[in-house]
Amino acid sequence: MEIKIECPCGQPFEFDVEPENGQMPCEVKCPDCGTDATALANAYIREQLPPKPAPVAARPAPAPMTVPGAPRAVRQYSPPPMPSRAVPVPAKAIAKRKKNPNDNAFRNGVIGAATASVIAFIIWFCLVRFGQFEIGWAGWLVGGIVGVGAMIGGNGGSRMGTLSSLFAALAILGGHFFGCMMGGLDLTPNVALIVGLILGAITAYKIGSGANN
Ligand SMILES: [Zn+2]
Repeated sequence: MEIKIECPCGQPFEFDVEPENGQMPCEVKCPDCGTDATALANAYIREQLPPKPAPVAARPAPAPMTVPGAPRAVRQYSPPPMPSRAVPVPAKAIAKRKKNPNDNAFRNGVIGAATASVIAFIIWFCLVRFGQFEIGWAGWLVGGIVGVGAMIGGNGGSRMGTLSSLFAALAILGGHFFGCMMGGLDLTPNVALIVGLILGAITAYKIGSGANN
């Protein structure tokens, strides 16, 4: 029989279903808000049934397998949808598996710090290679860049800060090494390099770790 009901939310909907013992054979839900509308449908069936005694012959004879008294196996099925918007909404179990957001943030922080350290490396390299000198306070710049990279991606914490320091130190050491190699300069660590390393590591730690605490 055709059932037309209106959800308390105001959404009218209709569908076709064969009642069992004057009741809905399955659950039905509002297609709009998902509220269980089975009780409403049952009330509708009760209203409709008395006048005309259940039309059993509407369908072809039951399948030969049907054993009287056999337990009905299927309780939860979707009634055939009407062409219109009569589709009862099945209970969806949309449980999107979410990764631990902290892990994602940490990974993004590492990506941010690594990307920034490439930029910082190029800066230090250019100082040595083309400027033919190193300046200690450039470590601030390098540490700042790496720390900000870590902060943009990650969510801070001491682990992130330590990693930022490491990336900054790598960027400076790498810039020093390649800059000196290609510029034909002495590779021996100078004061500017050491000062830069210290400043860079401290700055990177402060900024990289401080994003969230
Ligand atoms: Zn509704």
